[in-house]
This record gives sequence, structure tokens and C-alpha cells, in this order.
Amino acid sequence: MKRVYMDANATTPLLPEVMEAMRPYWTERFGNASSIHFDGQHAHAAVDRARATLAEFFNCHDAEVVFNSGGTEGDNTAIFGLLRPGDHFITTSIEHSAILAAAERMVSQGVETTFVAPQPSGLIDPAEVQRALRPGTRLISVMLANNETGVLQPVEEIGRIAREAGAFFHIDGVQGAGKVKLDVRRFGCHLLSISAHKMYGPKGVGAMFVRRGTPVESLLVGGSHERRRRAGTENVPGIVGMAKAAELAMLSLEDGTIERMAKLRDKLEAGILELPGTGVNGAHSIRSHSERAQRVEGPAFSFSDNAVPRVANTTNIWFDQLEGEALVIALDLKGVAVSGGSACHSGATEPSHVLMAMGLSKMQARASLRFSLLKTATEADVDYVLKVVPEAVEHLRAISPVAAGTLG
Ligand code: PLP
Repeated sequence: MKRVYMDANATTPLLPEVMEAMRPYWTERFGNASSIHFDGQHAHAAVDRARATLAEFFNCHDAEVVFNSGGTEGDNTAIFGLLRPGDHFITTSIEHSAILAAAERMVSQGVETTFVAPQPSGLIDPAEVQRALRPGTRLISVMLANNETGVLQPVEEIGRIAREAGAFFHIDGVQGAGKVKLDVRRFGCHLLSISAHKMYGPKGVGAMFVRRGTPVESLLVGGSHERRRRAGTENVPGIVGMAKAAELAMLSLEDGTIERMAKLRDKLEAGILELPGTGVNGAHSIRSHSERAQRVEGPAFSFSDNAVPRVANTTNIWFDQLEGEALVIALDLKGVAVSGGSACHSGATEPSHVLMAMGLSKMQARASLRFSLLKTATEADVDYVLKVVPEAVEHLRAISPVAAGTLG
């Protein structure tokens, strides 16, 4: 059976070049980057080269790059490393749980926190961030791209607001890295976190931009690694792999890969929206089937109507009268890997907090699916998904208790 992986926002495979770059650092170049002998110096030099690549990726100085274990650590570091009881913190209600759970812990320790809600499009309004400011606001943390909808947030404007208020600004850049150009100077942030496994690098390694002079306390203490900003022996193969992935990501941003991926995503989206009772969550609220039916004669309508910017690989679609989880399973049985608009916490399926914050009902959030394409996706992949999705939807609607109106 053909298998099509459309869950790139969950994780991505290593590109072969990344695997090759890492290989020697597991075996013959196994040194500890802190050792002063030949083997250690070899490892140290590899980490230095990787740091220079990441500095180019972020547009910062080498000394402003800190390697860590991934997005969760970066997000936690920004919050635990800067906030103290009595501070005020601003974030959004659509962040990843690595931010939200850290924020909740800080709330319990006396950090007042404002969770800014998105507009129905999934976009955070900078004016709402501005309104949330208080004299004691120490940190603002907003994601670059949402993991569920792909909506890109106005980080530059929020960076300006933070600067004027004298607050620190952290960006969770995990879902933007490799999909849009990162530029920490333009974004005006003090901290930005990324994760290698979301950009065709290895799992369990990440990097953080830490602007010079930002007084962020290290989460881990011990050795003096990473200029005392993150203790622990460096994951040399992981860091080398991440740098290779960043190098390839910079190429992809220039060589038409992103545009090609956007075209495939748009084709997929348009094809699925041919089904009645479907619509896009985030960005294109006019793209629902019923509205399309009304507008189809109108000269103003176009599939390139792009009210809200999104990353090129993501679309989040609701299917009326469907249980998203059932569709995820039905598609998996046909060889297609996608994600539902819900997360499994302690065995219970909760509807997505992101979609609910955008104003969807529990039922609509549960009836939503995220398709996120790999940069290696092909036309044949999209054609296959466009063949199996309508079949699965029609089948499930025919047997669905939701469709039959027997579920509340
Ligand atoms: N932030 C966002 C937006 C994410 O999508 C993820 C992963 O899903 C993370 C943070 C956590 O990254 P990691 O898996 O590297 O801990």
C-alpha cells in the first residue's frame, strides 16, 4: 500500500545529507567537545562550525547561539529563566503546551500572566498585546507560526511593542524555522527557540538565539558548557545534524522548494474543499464550501485570497458531521498519516485548545484535521490523498452517529 506522510508539523525525517553529516560523529569523531586533546578539539571545532551556521540561520552573532535539547527546553528556558514572582508575563492562548504548561507553573508561583486570545482567523492582534501591557511586564512570548493552523504571527510588530515597553520578547520559532526566513534582528526578539526534528534534523536537539546581555538563567546547571547558559555535554552528532539541516533549509528558502510546497498544499486544500461541509480553520475563512458556492460567480473570489499569512506546508480543515479521530484512523488504514484537531491527554481526547480559542465549538474542533506536507512531498502524494479523503469522508458520514443526529 502507498504511504503518504502528511504530518510534518509533528516531526520530519532526516534528510540523507543530514544523516551523512552526523555519521562520523557517532564513531571515529566521538570526542567530548570540552576535552583538550585531539579528539576533543575535533568535536569542539565541529560544534563551532555548527554554531556559525546557526548564527547565519538566525542572523545573529555566533556567541548568541545556545544549543539545547529542542523546542520544549527553549520555551521553558525563556519562561523559567526570566520570570520571577511578582512579574507580569504576556503570552497567547494558542501557544504550544511547552509554553502554556510553563506559564501555568509560573502562575502558581506568583507570576501574573495574560493569555491573549487570537482573532477567529487564528491571528494574534498586536493591539491586544499592547493592551495587555502593565508597568511590571517583564516578558512577552509569542509563536512565529502556529503548529495546528500554520498561521504566521506578526512578530515584528510585537517586537516593536516589547521594545517600547522595555519588556523581553521570546519567539517560539519551532514551526517557522525552515518554512520562513528567520531574522532575529528584524523580529526584534531577545530569545528565539527552534527544534531540529521539525526541520529534517535529528530529534532531541535544538538551538536558541539569546541576545547578548539577556539575563536568562540556565535551566540546567553543572559544567560551563555553552558559556554557562546550558550545562551538559554537547550532543555533537545532533548539533552537526542540526547545522546541516539549517544549511539545507536556507537553500530551500531560496530555490523554489517553499513555493512548490505551497502549490501542492493549495491543490490539496482546494481538492478537499470540493467536498460539501468543509472549510479551512485559520487564514481562509471564505474558503468554506457553502461560501464558495455563493461566491463562485463573483469576480473577487480567488484561491490566492490570502487574508492571513500561513506557512506553506500546512492546512487545517474541518469536516462537518465527522469525528476527526475516526477520519485520522480511516486515513491511516489507507496509508495516509495526518493529525487530528485534538490532543490526547491522560487517555482522554481533548479538542484542540488552538481551534477552540479561535472560536470553534468542541464539536467543530473535534471534526478538524491538520495536513502538513513534507518539503519532499510530490504531486502523486497529493493526488493519492485527494483520492482517499473523499472516499473516507463519504463512508464515515454514511455511518456516523454525528451525521445521523444521534450525538449531541
Ligand atoms: N513549540 C511548537 C510550536 C511545537 O510545535 C513543538 C513541537 O511540537 C514544540 C514547541 C516542542 O518542540 P520539541 O518537540 O523539540 O520539544
